[in-house]
Amino acid sequence: MNRVKCLIIGSGPAGYTAAIYASRANLAPVLIEGPQLGGQLTTTTEVENFPGYPDGVEPFTMMDDMRRQAERFGTTFVSGIVTKVEFSLPSLQGGTEGRPPHKVWAEDTDLYEADAVIIATGASAKYLGLESERTYRGRGVSACATCDGFFYRKKTVAVVGGGDTACEEANYLAGLCEKVYMIVRKPYLRASEIMQQRVLNNPKIEVLFEHNTLCLTGEGKVQGADLIYRKGEPDEAIKHIAIDGFFLAIGHHPNTELFKDYVARDAEGYIIVKDNGTQCYAPITDNRSPLTVIPGIFAAGDCADPHYRQAVVAAGSGAKAAIEADKYIKSL
Ligand code: NDP
Repeated sequence: MNRVKCLIIGSGPAGYTAAIYASRANLAPVLIEGPQLGGQLTTTTEVENFPGYPDGVEPFTMMDDMRRQAERFGTTFVSGIVTKVEFSLPSLQGGTEGRPPHKVWAEDTDLYEADAVIIATGASAKYLGLESERTYRGRGVSACATCDGFFYRKKTVAVVGGGDTACEEANYLAGLCEKVYMIVRKPYLRASEIMQQRVLNNPKIEVLFEHNTLCLTGEGKVQGADLIYRKGEPDEAIKHIAIDGFFLAIGHHPNTELFKDYVARDAEGYIIVKDNGTQCYAPITDNRSPLTVIPGIFAAGDCADPHYRQAVVAAGSGAKAAIEADKYIKSL
């Protein structure tokens, strides 16, 4: 068993920034890196909107910079996946001082007991599951128009999805690109009325209703997509579109399943945090009143952010979580 003051789960901008702050506060944090070192950002090609990198930066370089910065101040890194947690929830606490440590297992076997845990496990964009999508990941396939749209200036791109995110991304891309296709599987958009109107009134956007993507094509990068109209219907037809970029906007899953019995989450699985900060609530049960804060459990970054999903915002919330964890640990 390893006893630590502050344990951080996740190695994206939120986790690493929390580690920088926690180590500079002398908390000697341990950070469990998880399955995707560097987090979701490393699925993009270049980062141009993170302050401090005027010429842009490769995501792996940026994440490695953050990691080295945390290491310099004393963070210990553990490579591995968290497989189980047991947080000490307020109404169930029975320790001598009512504040027993929180337990986290890495790879089933390594137990960490921590005064404070910062959950920074991020979110994963949903993909269609096509083989060609994996082939061209980072070479024309993206799940973030704000991150990657700039690389497609004056080009033709497609956005998959018919929700608010897809409409927002399509509008954003229409400001940069020559033409934007929206590939929508239903005969209507699911987005809010105002977003629908923006899309439908934008002359650069062509909505392909009732289309599904069969595969992406191209020599070493995306150059086209084969779509099928009204799958399974007698008048089904295959259509080829020439595109340079293929943007997924079919939703995200926050990586919070592991914590579902211990922290309150919204209907989509995002962790609910107190007052736009980082403190977590215990799940509501018969013997626990709503909005009971769990001492020592914090969430930062995309796992608790259904809205902004930007690296710089995640980094900011990682700093907040570490500051709150430091205050909590000093109060013990
Ligand atoms: P949504 O779940 O609302 O929409 C997902 C879209 O992707 C739907 O059109 C869905 O189709 C489509 N889709 C899902 N799976 C597939 C698939 N396998 N193949 C093809 N299409 C697929 O997700 P969003 O990310 O758009 O929105 C999430 C939440 O965030 C919503 O509540 C939204 O309102 C909110 N939001 C608000 C914004 C704003 O207010 N400005 C901006 C962005 C998001 P189908 O309809 O057929 O299920």
